[in-house]
Amino acid sequence: MEVRIFGGVGEIGGNKVLISSPDRRAIMLDFGKSFSREDAFFQYPFMPPMFPGDYFKTGLLPPSEGPEWRMRGYEIGGLFISHAHLDHWGYLPLIHREIPVHLGRAGRTILEAYRSMGSRDLAALGELRMGTFSTGDVLEVDGLTLVPVHVDHSVPGAYGFLVDCCSKRVAYTGDLRMHGPRRDMTEDFIDILAEEGVDLLLMEATKVAPENDPESSLVKVLENRIWYRWRREPPKRVNFEVSTEDEVGERMRGVLEGSEGLILVEVSPTDVDRVRTVCEVARALGRKLVMDERVGFMADALSDVGISDLPRPGDYLLWRRRRRGKDGTEVKLGSREPRGLLDFIGRVEDRGGPDSVLWGDSRRRILEDGGSHFVITSNATRFLYEIPMGMKPTMEFVMSRSEPFSEETALSLDRLMNWLLIYGIHRYYRIHVSGHISPDQISDVLERVNPKRVVPIHTEHPDLFDLYVPKSMREGGILLPEIGRPITP
Ligand SMILES: [Zn+2]
Repeated sequence: MEVRIFGGVGEIGGNKVLISSPDRRAIMLDFGKSFSREDAFFQYPFMPPMFPGDYFKTGLLPPSEGPEWRMRGYEIGGLFISHAHLDHWGYLPLIHREIPVHLGRAGRTILEAYRSMGSRDLAALGELRMGTFSTGDVLEVDGLTLVPVHVDHSVPGAYGFLVDCCSKRVAYTGDLRMHGPRRDMTEDFIDILAEEGVDLLLMEATKVAPENDPESSLVKVLENRIWYRWRREPPKRVNFEVSTEDEVGERMRGVLEGSEGLILVEVSPTDVDRVRTVCEVARALGRKLVMDERVGFMADALSDVGISDLPRPGDYLLWRRRRRGKDGTEVKLGSREPRGLLDFIGRVEDRGGPDSVLWGDSRRRILEDGGSHFVITSNATRFLYEIPMGMKPTMEFVMSRSEPFSEETALSLDRLMNWLLIYGIHRYYRIHVSGHISPDQISDVLERVNPKRVVPIHTEHPDLFDLYVPKSMREGGILLPEIGRPITP
């Protein structure tokens, strides 16, 4: 058996792991978009990658047989996606239509939700051969055996994988954490690895970094820039250190209790734990819930596949994304709205009444009565930009999302700060707990699993990984990853 890693090497995300048998039959684990490496060659919207060849010649994807990606020199029998974060599945639209794709049920629902919300470039997902797996399934592909096992992460339907071939075993963690509400699932995965024994462990190490909060130095740079641009104090970022989801809720409630203005909280729509936490805070504060269509749509889609306690149509007012009609004024529905979204808006109106969709002048209603509303948005910058002309509601803002740290995040943070200034928000709160395992817990996991060798992936600092490896493994037990280089377990 041979392992080659084509992404997630010295970077957070972009994971792509090829595992092959001696006769060059192979599977691929994850097919993630690499933000940092894309950024090195392309720029949106002016110079995006346009043809498949653009991905091949820059090494963003491993060499292909033809324009639809098919690994040169190997027969790929299946592609397995660990979870529905873009940095693990984002290049799926580029693969050859005949390669079967496997992922968990919640993961598939999330991908389909993005597609039905009309996300550009995802139409191709509809043409792929997609199948779903669940924990403990034993999947045989051309002499390789793969077992998916659930793990806890900041998105539902996340899995780690065990792959067996030629009496060797490789384990791949995907992304996971030990401090989340479903830590029992990660424990299951670790237990299995410890029992079965692992020759090679590909371990996510996102949080291995020289500083605790890599965002903070960047925020400083942006704050300086704001000072020069506006000659005004930048909005102050108040960062709360919390370590469990429960603490996120407690802290958020504490900070927002007694505030009189509109409350605005940004979350990632697929982080269902956070969506639940934030809804609970809104309830505890006795406020009416307002959600944007991405948060509402995703919650609805995931509820349909059995994920419980998420808000349903009728539970909230829907903040509609702005659309411009032919006469230049705002319309409720644009001329080319995706079908799935129209159906969803219909459901919201059926259950919540015709006034439950906020657009145009009806937005004013909730902004004028800001003190009784609580907005959950997937994009606070967009929310601020959609506030009608002439209104300047008092607001409190909480940033509460997990985002892989990247240049792109930096740019959007800059924009957010400018909009916060326009609306006179002079301080905002960051209350968040990571989707990733902490470095100290990495040591515990390695101690328990005791793999023959370990490769740190999904980190910008693989060179610091040895700090968290048990002494017994340090000599020859750590393999630093190199793009495309064959590893024999
Ligand atoms: Zn992830």
